[in-house]
Amino acid sequence: MPTSQAAIEGVKLYFSKPYMLTINGELLSAPNTFDVFNPADNTVLAHAPEASAEQMEAAIQAAKKAFPSWAALSWGKRCEYITRYADALEANKEDLITLLTLEQGKPRHTMATSEVEASIYWVREVAKRKIPVEVLEDTEQHTVEVHHTPLGVVGAITPWNYPVLLGLWKVAPCLITGNTMVLKPSPYTPLTSLRFGEIAQRVLPAGVLNVVSGGNELGQIMTEHPDIAKISFTGSTATGKKVMASGSSNLKRVTLELGGNDAAIVLADTDYKSIVPTLFWAAFGNSGQWCIAVKRLYVHSSIHADFVREFVAYAKTKKVGDGMNVGTDLGPIQNRMQYNKLVELFDDVKNNDYRVPLGGTIDRTLAGNFVPVTIVDNPPESSRIVQEEPFGPILPIIAFDDVDDVVRRANASPFGLGGSVWGGDRDAAIAVANRLETGTVWVNEIHIHGIDIPFGGHKQSGMGVENGHEGLCEFTNTKTLMLKK
Ligand code: NAD
Repeated sequence: MPTSQAAIEGVKLYFSKPYMLTINGELLSAPNTFDVFNPADNTVLAHAPEASAEQMEAAIQAAKKAFPSWAALSWGKRCEYITRYADALEANKEDLITLLTLEQGKPRHTMATSEVEASIYWVREVAKRKIPVEVLEDTEQHTVEVHHTPLGVVGAITPWNYPVLLGLWKVAPCLITGNTMVLKPSPYTPLTSLRFGEIAQRVLPAGVLNVVSGGNELGQIMTEHPDIAKISFTGSTATGKKVMASGSSNLKRVTLELGGNDAAIVLADTDYKSIVPTLFWAAFGNSGQWCIAVKRLYVHSSIHADFVREFVAYAKTKKVGDGMNVGTDLGPIQNRMQYNKLVELFDDVKNNDYRVPLGGTIDRTLAGNFVPVTIVDNPPESSRIVQEEPFGPILPIIAFDDVDDVVRRANASPFGLGGSVWGGDRDAAIAVANRLETGTVWVNEIHIHGIDIPFGGHKQSGMGVENGHEGLCEFTNTKTLMLKK
């Protein structure tokens, strides 16, 4: 439904104003601020409010106070509010897209636009989903029903690679199921979240969604806090473990969406030329800063050399640059910490003399965090570039001979987020897919997501799922009701 001009007037923000916390329906400054950098040139983009521990406490108490009346609303009424929120996000869409590029680095005209548009679509569509009451038994003697009740206050903690999408993926299912929320964005990319908190404050009741920026210690306050019933966390496996440990104090529910080292397996009978562009973007989209990016590309040895040649030729046509420039395909690395990790990984590739048919050298004289598209040809299985999650635009393309062996190598990882199998013989490809120990496996396609499709990791890639009926249920308690007739 198109948003009317009158509706836009009510919710349009003026993005030049200072960034504020959203607590209890009010916009508040913090005692201190911290610098947020533009990764394209490392200039200071903005000063974000650094909330104090007292302000985090106020946000949690505001969410707690708002919970009973929000939970008591009908599902339809909450849907109305969230739909208005989607309209309000839509009214501010262009500014959110620009801000996303400025703070995160991804190209404005492609990836930033699609992230913001997909997020708004998600909010609007999730609001329409319901968890029906399930009737397990209905006899002359009694009825057994399964209901789903809200948990209370949810703490959302998000990373810096998809700050808008991963934040709103949590907000919409949390609120529609009757919970209230305190959201803490990554200190590297707080600005878009502060703005979508500000937008929420114009359309949602006070305290239903609070957005609080600051350092990692705020996350720890949330995970330890007795008034938070659940933490919905997306970030690294190392931090996910800390979240789980400190959440145990009051047996918090946790959903953990963590790291990955996804394998793509290209079988010998694949029409490989036709899939090169798809696999390129699957690995290098968002400059590889993507939990489910293809991070290990296994190609059958009979086509490996030709595949690498085609892949390099395609990759050479892609341009790394400032995401604000039209024509940029891949933006910079979002922050200096991650850039420095990549510098070290690139040094490891160089020091070990692995074959690098494209890229391989980071120009450290550039002001921005630019890293060239880099392909490593058939490094050993034990190399760091195969075993670790690089989270940057570097990909090993590894040869294999035997299907059993490649399945073993793909599964020999502490991670189990996603994977894909590519082949001409569909049944043979499905048979391989069935053997991969990951939360999602795609066959002859990749990175399809949907409102109704659960997404989560096996092993140390996470716990629980987001999206789908299962994802919605994770924001609820299961309550069994038994009635004697
Ligand atoms: P990170 O773990 O460093 O930080 C994530 C969030 O946790 C930030 O908001 C941070 O402030 C907060 N935090 C840090 N220490 C904390 C603590 N002790 N207690 C509570 N919160 C704390 O991760 P990152 O570097 O921002 O993100 C990159 C990682 O995220 C990668 O490993 C990537 O694979 C993963 N990721 C996973 C998914 C997924 O859906 N599985 C999606 C995107 C990113």
